[in-house]
Amino acid sequence: MSDADTILITGGAGYIGSHTNKQLCKKGYKTVTIDNLVYGHRSFVKWGDFVLGDLADLQQLRLIFQKYSISSVIHFAGYAYVGESYENPEKYYINNFANTLNLLRVMREFGVQKIIFSSTCATYGEPIQLPLMESHPQNPINPYGTCKLFIEKALSDYSRAYGLQYVNLRYFNAAGADPECEIGEKHNPETHLIPIALDVALGHRPHLNIFGMDYSTKDGTCIRDYIHVNDLANAHILALEYLFQGGMSDSFNLGSESGYSVQEVVDTIKKITQKDIKSVSVGRRKGDPASLVSSSSKAKQILKWEIQYKLEEIIRTAWEWHKKNG
Ligand code: UDP
Repeated sequence: MSDADTILITGGAGYIGSHTNKQLCKKGYKTVTIDNLVYGHRSFVKWGDFVLGDLADLQQLRLIFQKYSISSVIHFAGYAYVGESYENPEKYYINNFANTLNLLRVMREFGVQKIIFSSTCATYGEPIQLPLMESHPQNPINPYGTCKLFIEKALSDYSRAYGLQYVNLRYFNAAGADPECEIGEKHNPETHLIPIALDVALGHRPHLNIFGMDYSTKDGTCIRDYIHVNDLANAHILALEYLFQGGMSDSFNLGSESGYSVQEVVDTIKKITQKDIKSVSVGRRKGDPASLVSSSSKAKQILKWEIQYKLEEIIRTAWEWHKKNG
């Protein structure tokens, strides 16, 4: 990559995008973020250039590609509320899927061949075997996951036909915050376990609803694989460098390979915050598999990805951020 080359980050004002942007800039890469700020935060884009814009607008995309010498794209932009995707699938099919086709079109017009795509373990659907390997069948059970899978399929077809080079990164449960507390997790509305439990610790919510205590897991609550947002950010940089070194288009799981139950997460939060987290058992949430745990050995082997943060550190960084910004 030459000095003049810029990495375009779509959705770089969001949670994972902003952490990736920070890591890229710290490593000396030049970036430009495009974000429509529907869910993202302008204050999270403290590094590189920023364009307020939407992938729906082909003309605006073309102007960005004209202005900057774009070497590659990291594509985060997309809505990420699974529940909402059931209620209003069109919003997801248009914004997440169709608008990605706009991005791919403009990349092709400008001869930009490399893309890292923010995919998800939700593309697998209900697991038939754990830990989940990349070869596991992909049968998503909600429109959010379906749209992510459709994008993976488009990338594969475009790669075959037009020579696009891509890496799909299938995240498990992103969590934690920038240890320097410059950016962190801030969703509105918030639906995720850790920030909601931290809200309870701060007294901003009366209790945590636990969605289902009757799963066939060790304590009856769902098991998930939590991975620190900076570990995810680093994987994007490794994936980009892998493509620049001539690596083949491929898909990688990104998780810690350890499963923790909702109850274990809550217990760890109690220990770290030294606060009581009142919880109430409510019914299961639609579309929640009992257990999701990754095999991430492929990313470790091929991308040389190493995980820096364990659950306690994930929660500690999230707590530090939450105390300042919750
Ligand atoms: N969860 C919960 N109460 C909440 C939010 C989440 O019990 O208020 C559970 C949820 O059912 C899942 C786990 O916590 O088993 C992680 O959920 P989250 O929404 O953080 O991430 P997801 O696994 O849906 O991507």
